[in-house]
Amino acid sequence: MIPIPSSARPGDVRWEPAFLELAHGLVRLEAKTRVITRLTGLSTRRVRELYRVLQGKGASPGPVRQSSAQFFAVPSASTSSVWTLHCATFVACYEEIGNACDVRLNRGWQLLMAFTTYSSLYANAGPLAIGRRLDVNLAYALLVHAGFLESRQAELQRVRCATCMLRYLVVRSLPLERQKCPVCSISTNHLRLARQGFRA
Ligand SMILES: [Zn+2]
Repeated sequence: MIPIPSSARPGDVRWEPAFLELAHGLVRLEAKTRVITRLTGLSTRRVRELYRVLQGKGASPGPVRQSSAQFFAVPSASTSSVWTLHCATFVACYEEIGNACDVRLNRGWQLLMAFTTYSSLYANAGPLAIGRRLDVNLAYALLVHAGFLESRQAELQRVRCATCMLRYLVVRSLPLERQKCPVCSISTNHLRLARQGFRA
């Protein structure tokens, strides 16, 4: 795929094929219609037509789930450190793709490339391939909370773990000491389970 720079406008005939290709990629990943119209400038009618032709069905109904910033960064009763590691990995893919290019990229194109890279990383990742993974709609919501897609103040930021050097996501409004690095948390948990097994 040809990279789309941030200067390219959807209505510009020179970039129409590139935006259409971007829309195809997002339809294949089953992005919500609203996400695709926002990122490509295509009309809702056109996106529905693409869904019919490429997927043989309509887009999944319902609004774009925004979730909360905490959902992506702080393990809860329904999520784990593996989940927050997934989220940190995806944001790292997004940032690194941006850093690797000389020009500022179109955010939709960067999202599609980052999601493709993230998916390939976890395709055969053993234990990390099990459980909840980001889908493209959650990836979009995560980028919004991290301040990459909208100009509002980012609720999430990345910090570097002093132990393992991973850059992981934290919620700005919560105390940093309560937000642990996911890799170190997983490692501590494995050690604890191993010790328990050893004693049993
Ligand atoms: Zn760590």
